[in-house]
Amino acid sequence: MAAQEMVDHKYVYDFAEGNKDLKDLLGGKGANLAEMTNLGLPVPPGFTITTEACKAYLATGQEPDGLAGQIAAHLEALEREMGRRLGDPDDPLLVSVRSGAKFSMPGMMETVLNVGLNDRSVVGLSAQAGGNDRFAWDSYRRLIQMFGKTVCDVPGEEFEHALDEAKRAKGTTDDLGLDADDLRGLVDAYKKIFAKHTGREFPQEPREQLDLAIRAVFESWNAERAVVYRRQERIPADLGTAVNVVAMVFGNLGPDSGTGVAFTRDPSSGAQGIYGDYLANAQGEDVVAGIRNTVPLQELERIDKTSYDELLSYMARLEEHYKDLCDIEFTIERGKLWMLQTRVGKRTAAAAFVIAGQLVDEGLIDLDEALHRVNGAQLAQLMFPRFRLDHEFEPVAKGVGASPGAASGKAVFSSDRAVELAGQGESVILVRRETNPDDLNGMIAAKGILTSRGGKTSHAAVVARGMGKTCVSGADELDVNVPQRRFTVAGQTVNEGDVISVDGTTGKVYLGEVPVMPSEVVQYFEGTLDPEATDDPLVRAVHRIMTHADQRRRLAVRTNADTAEDAARARRFGAGGIGLCRTEHMFLGDRRELVERLILARTDDEREAALGTLLPLQRADFVEIFRAMDGLPVTVRLIDPPLHEFLPPLEQLAVDVAVAQERGEDVAKEEALLAAVRRMHEENPMLGLRGVRLGLVIPGLFAMQVRAITEAAVTVVREGGSACPEIMVPLVGAVQELETVRSEAEKIIAEVVGDSGVEVLIGTMIEVPRAALTAGQIAEAAEFFSFGTNDLTQMGWGFSRDDVEAAFFWRYLELGIFGISPFESIDTEGVGRLVRIAAEEGRAARPGLKLGVCGEHGGDPDSVHFFHSVGLDYVSCSPFRVPVARLEAGRAAVETAGSDSR
Ligand code: ADP
Ligand code: MG
Ligand code: MG
Repeated sequence: MAAQEMVDHKYVYDFAEGNKDLKDLLGGKGANLAEMTNLGLPVPPGFTITTEACKAYLATGQEPDGLAGQIAAHLEALEREMGRRLGDPDDPLLVSVRSGAKFSMPGMMETVLNVGLNDRSVVGLSAQAGGNDRFAWDSYRRLIQMFGKTVCDVPGEEFEHALDEAKRAKGTTDDLGLDADDLRGLVDAYKKIFAKHTGREFPQEPREQLDLAIRAVFESWNAERAVVYRRQERIPADLGTAVNVVAMVFGNLGPDSGTGVAFTRDPSSGAQGIYGDYLANAQGEDVVAGIRNTVPLQELERIDKTSYDELLSYMARLEEHYKDLCDIEFTIERGKLWMLQTRVGKRTAAAAFVIAGQLVDEGLIDLDEALHRVNGAQLAQLMFPRFRLDHEFEPVAKGVGASPGAASGKAVFSSDRAVELAGQGESVILVRRETNPDDLNGMIAAKGILTSRGGKTSHAAVVARGMGKTCVSGADELDVNVPQRRFTVAGQTVNEGDVISVDGTTGKVYLGEVPVMPSEVVQYFEGTLDPEATDDPLVRAVHRIMTHADQRRRLAVRTNADTAEDAARARRFGAGGIGLCRTEHMFLGDRRELVERLILARTDDEREAALGTLLPLQRADFVEIFRAMDGLPVTVRLIDPPLHEFLPPLEQLAVDVAVAQERGEDVAKEEALLAAVRRMHEENPMLGLRGVRLGLVIPGLFAMQVRAITEAAVTVVREGGSACPEIMVPLVGAVQELETVRSEAEKIIAEVVGDSGVEVLIGTMIEVPRAALTAGQIAEAAEFFSFGTNDLTQMGWGFSRDDVEAAFFWRYLELGIFGISPFESIDTEGVGRLVRIAAEEGRAARPGLKLGVCGEHGGDPDSVHFFHSVGLDYVSCSPFRVPVARLEAGRAAVETAGSDSR
């Protein structure tokens, strides 16, 4: 064996050979099983087949050379250690075959238990268990069911039906009501189902069972629901999964056996304590599948105190070791505790903050590490609104608050229907007895999920938490009838399409739509909730971590705001200025008429008159914004969109003119407008007469805006305030454009500023690829750059967002050409490279050039990290994203500091 492994690549690792840092190779489950083994915890022996073997298999469709031999060698060693041979008719060793990728993908990949059972070894298993026939046949029927479903794609419902049928024949509702004979009969029924669907008999050869199961785990990496989950969670598609082969231990041996899951802290609130579910006389998935009702973990103390105490000591040990919340799967076989899995547990956004704060208090981690353990997506979730509850709303049911948030929508009872209605823009709540991996698309589409069975660790709960989706599970007062598309509760019937509301924090379910209010975290950011005075652990943790993020971050965070109101709110949320104040809205509403006059002007006088009327209006807008941002920089972008956007649509005008002519009315003005609209029509407005081009073509337009901005600043300064305007020219591609605008603007500024002391900076957007590539020249005429990454993405890729997102992005995501839409997160390799070039060359030409970014990427966590790494001075984003950007900027600073010292 040793010689064999010398020549072959090593594809199989014994648990004793691995550790928790080998997740890439052994997957999360395998690496942590190895870690627990090496910590001396009772883990059943086994081995892990690497992700490399999986990748090789997926690439070629064949097990790589040497794999079969290595599996045989490790299996032999396992058999020796256990003193039993796989599938031995008299005294069989059974194993589980478990998938386990680098990132945990709950319920996504396949596991087969009891491999090694066949018509003969089932008898041996019974003997091994002291003549427990019921247990042996129960294990065998589970093998056929799991093997059939996951290895051979036999529809799972067929087995479910056969099981229901057996229960009904016996007059029981519980699988425990079936005795050995019933289960033997069920095995026959299962085998028939298996043969019918696969065209072959259930494989009796243990090693063939093992090999087929391993192969199925490899293949499950590319199963549709795994692909969907990865896309949703942004897990790379090329990691592959490891396969763990583990000696079976049995929780279905009788009342002194059982299986359970445990968390070292509450994964939903972060509170310390003992959380978990236990189910006696059960195997594997039974706990999470909601098959029978579990008992809270605390009750294990009464059922089996020795195992309970032992489990608690391992939980403490694991938490100390991983310095984080751990979740655990365990099985008790006749009073003996076995640890089957652990990992750093998934948690809600609130729990992430609370736990990070607690771990700092306990001295297990420092504040930098706490900052690293939370993220902007979680913070964004905590800013979702809550239900506003007064006596008008009485819950009709209460389940488990499985994943927090408040969601209202139309009740739907199938994944397909959820997808369909959500596609039509409806909010839906997916209602199921329990969810399973096939419901994934529906869960993604739904605003919330409601199940009548299962606890905090059921499929629905775990997956919803992972997605940050509101979920109430185990609302057992609900009688859910999926085929009839309705549920009844408290004597009332809710049909598909009826609106319900679910509160994933409290677990309460309401009929109708409950109004919502801002979350505590938003109240904190708004300044209406004092973090020092509250005893809300979440608000205190958020405050502490945000304060640390602000201390650590190097990026400033500004906001995109067009009104004084938005500016004021963003300031409360921690914005250090405005990075983008659009002036388009200042031409809308009843000012449209002035724009029409401007466009239709036939003489200089007419044009100047129109601009002269706009000037005081704009000045007033700027005064308010400068007041709101007193003392902080405000970047104002000169008008950017094509002017025809301010005119009525062509069709509407044409009809109006025709109708008016018919009536014999005077339509001179409408006709002129119509002619103007026709004249100004553009095939590609995005690439047309807009931005700086407009300013160079329409005399006086930019000058009016520059004057309004400067006069407003002077006004604010004269009233005792402080205004720091930065005038930003959009869509510049050549330095000459900027120079032309600049020289005109400088004259006006000099004239208006006088002795007021106001300083006005002039800079440009970098959003045309040519600007990025000639940034060195452009910097000569610009005091700052602001990257407009939306346009830079559009022009960098050569597509218009409005056209492409619906047309083909889905396909690009499916093919993996995009991991994520480049509008959501900046494409660091292409568009990001333009940013990097412009930043470097701009700064080389003008040291001290201010660099920022405005556009949606400014509030996207991954993009913020990128902008930090490029060395920008600030990001600017919408007011509600400001806290997210502050947090991520802090995380980026801490992470680079960490990797420097490593
Ligand atoms: P998942 O990744 O979906 O949690 P697992 O591989 O952990 O899948 O296995 C599914 C269930 O089977 C879990 O409850 C696990 O504890 C149980 N299980 C896995 N291997 C064994 C084993 N060797 N003996 C007993 N139970 C097992
Ligand atoms: Mg598991
Ligand atoms: Mg733009």
